[in-house]
Amino acid sequence: MNGLTERMRRELEALRGEGNERTLPRVTHEGRYVIGEEGRMLNLSSNDYLGLASDIRLQEEFLNGLTPADRLFSSSSSRLLTGNFSACAELEELLASMYGTESALVFSSGYHANAGILPAICDGETLILADKLVHASLIDGIRLSRTRCVRYRHNDTDQLKRLVEENHARYRQVIIVTESIFSMDGDEAELPEIVTLKRKYDNLLLYLDEAHAFGVRGERGLGCAEQWGCVADIDLLVGTFGKAAASQGAFVACSHVMRDYLVNKARTLIFTTALPPLNLRWTRFVVERLPGYRRRRKRLDDACSTLWYALEDKGYDCPSSSHIIPIITGDSESAIRLAERLRRGGFYVLPVRPPTVPAGTSRVRISLTADVTQEDIARLISVL
Ligand SMILES: *Cc1c(COP(=O)(O)O)cnc(C)c1O
Repeated sequence: MNGLTERMRRELEALRGEGNERTLPRVTHEGRYVIGEEGRMLNLSSNDYLGLASDIRLQEEFLNGLTPADRLFSSSSSRLLTGNFSACAELEELLASMYGTESALVFSSGYHANAGILPAICDGETLILADKLVHASLIDGIRLSRTRCVRYRHNDTDQLKRLVEENHARYRQVIIVTESIFSMDGDEAELPEIVTLKRKYDNLLLYLDEAHAFGVRGERGLGCAEQWGCVADIDLLVGTFGKAAASQGAFVACSHVMRDYLVNKARTLIFTTALPPLNLRWTRFVVERLPGYRRRRKRLDDACSTLWYALEDKGYDCPSSSHIIPIITGDSESAIRLAERLRRGGFYVLPVRPPTVPAGTSRVRISLTADVTQEDIARLISVL
């Protein structure tokens, strides 16, 4: 056996020993349920926040309205060659008009957007200030940008202010990078304060990842920036289609110049096959309807409140103010055990362990969807 295989085997064994080995779960889906080893379980690990991905009637309505030109399963090329189908331009126009921005640009995924935008726009005179807990795709974007970056303590807006004050005059531009709702803790950036800070300096840019808020927050479901009335202050507003929008892909809402520049410089846009027209049509079909899903957003909100208060009653210290609700157990073993207990009780949840979260903060991560009823939550609480 060669050295590499030997080393990989040893490392995997070590991960297994710590309870941190990752495997690909084998599950089948049945609407809002998942069928696994433990039987039929309510899916509490999905990002289908509005319950649209499991809505068969919605899919049928979409399929029935399709023309042959829309029914293409591949774009067969990068957008810069022959892959730029009208389905993409129409989706971008829709997004720009919904956000009231000059333009929008679609990427193949949130990962592509976040890994590609910062490397494209940063230069030697840029400083990035990023929240300590931003998503791996943003961290990869920061790394690829090879730009000086300071990570501020999670949601510590005072530290962020100090960093801006100390550094803004020394750089041509300072880019603040944060998520609106954070993936692992389910807590939120203090957007109004960050926006106030941004308005004080003319070389400050805001990059906001709304992956978990797109579809879920705001009167029309555009995200936290809509909720706080500050869309116009966000220079790069990234949303993803793989979560509440029940599709695949991502976008950035931005200025004309920014879009033109990204088309020229963002390698994750240029050197990859464009999304299939069929998929882009479906995304547009859903995005058009997002403003109308107020009842689903309200149901989700109500489910969240019920679960937060119940967890508080049970003595759990829960940082969440959203539909992403972690139950932090500390070590990986107890997270694994709690997840197993919940699965046996009929709830599909998974443990989240290092390196996804810092050591000592292993957890069971619940993500609620609009399909979860008050009865489901009552039963979940009884199993806890
Ligand atoms: C899911 C997620 C992404 C990645 O989006 P994909 O479309 O799944 O690649 C990016 N940022 C955050 C905060 C996310 O939660």
